Amino acid sequence: MGGSCDDGDVIAGNAGDAGSAGNGAVVLVVEDDPHIAELLDAYLRQEGHRPVAASDGERALGLFHERRPDLVLLDLGLPGGVDGVEVCRRLRRTSDVPVIMLTARADELDRVLGFEVGTDDYVTKPFSPRELMGRVRAVLRRTAASASGGAGSETGVHAFGGVRIDGGRREVTVDGVEVSLAAREFGLLRYLVRHAGQALSRRQILDGAWEDGWIGDERTVDVHVRQLRRKLGDDLPLATVRGHGYRLG
Ligand code: CA
Repeated sequence: MGGSCDDGDVIAGNAGDAGSAGNGAVVLVVEDDPHIAELLDAYLRQEGHRPVAASDGERALGLFHERRPDLVLLDLGLPGGVDGVEVCRRLRRTSDVPVIMLTARADELDRVLGFEVGTDDYVTKPFSPRELMGRVRAVLRRTAASASGGAGSETGVHAFGGVRIDGGRREVTVDGVEVSLAAREFGLLRYLVRHAGQALSRRQILDGAWEDGWIGDERTVDVHVRQLRRKLGDDLPLATVRGHGYRLG
C-alpha cells in the first residue's frame, strides 16, 4: 500500500487544449500534493477561472472566509488535524457552496458517503483532469441556473406540515426557520416536489434531479435523502419504497 495515497494520482494530460473560455469563477483548490495542485491550477486557469490554493484544512477554511469562492475542490486526505470531511462539515455550517470531493480510493468514497457531509459530487483518483473540468463546468452551470431560477426550476410554494418550500426564492423553512440546503439537496427536493405522490426509483431520481448527469453509485441518492430527512425532520413525508426508491407525499 505504501505511505501515500496520492502516489500516481493523476493521469497527466495536456493542459494546453483544455478549451473554452470560462466564467471566471473563484475556485478554492484544497490539495496537499503539489503536483496535483499545480495541474489543477493550470487547468482551471485554462478554463478562465481564478484558482486559490490551500494545502491543508486550516488554511482552506481561512481562505474560504477571505475569498468566498464559487466552488471548492477538496482533497479528502489532508495533513494536520482537519481532513477533507471536517473541512466540508465546517463549511456546511455557514455555506452551501458547491464542493467536489477528491478521494484517493473507492473505500474512501464509502467513508465519505457514510459521513454524509454534504458534498455535491465526488471524483475518485486517479482522475482525468479533463473529466474533472467537465464536472466543474456542470456544477457551476447548475449553481448559476438555480440562482437565477433557471430552466426547469419549480417556482411555486409547497408546504408539507411545517416544511415550506419556496422554489422561486429558493428558500426552505421548517416552522418558519430557514434551513440551508446544499445545491444538490435543493435540486433533489425540487425534483421530489415536482413528482409528489409518485414512487420514484433511485435511477429515475438520478436521471431527473442530477441535471449534469451522474456516474458511479445509486447509493448517492440515499445519502442526499438522509440529509434532507435530517435537515427537514418528520414533517417531510418522504417515504422509502422498499426495493425501489422514494416517494414524497
Ligand atoms: Ca492528499
